[in-house]
Amino acid sequence: MSHCQSCGACCASFRVSFYWGEEVPAHLTVPITPHRAAMRGTEAKPVRCIALSGEVGKEVGCTIYTQRSSTCREFTEYTPECNKARAMHGLPPIQA
Ligand code: SF4
Ligand code: SF4
Repeated sequence: MSHCQSCGACCASFRVSFYWGEEVPAHLTVPITPHRAAMRGTEAKPVRCIALSGEVGKEVGCTIYTQRSSTCREFTEYTPECNKARAMHGLPPIQA
């Protein structure tokens, strides 16, 4: 099973931005440049994507999973960025 379902740290650590034309529900996004939008909540402090449900480090889900951005799809487990996000939430690093 993926670590992601009991993590969610990356959805609550970084600004998640993408080309504004992607099919992400518009009311969950905020414009940041003429051509880019960000997931609402990820441009704020503390960071937490509005589409994230559950508790980081326990049990989480993405409420728009099939409509999530390319940025979300490209962010994967076991990468340095993944472990950086986990560390920001006090979670131990993971290895493949
Ligand atoms: S930080 Fe890593 S393990 Fe946690 S949800 Fe993101 S990709 Fe998955
Ligand atoms: S849209 Fe989903 S996968 Fe992307 S940051 Fe938000 S909760 Fe995470």
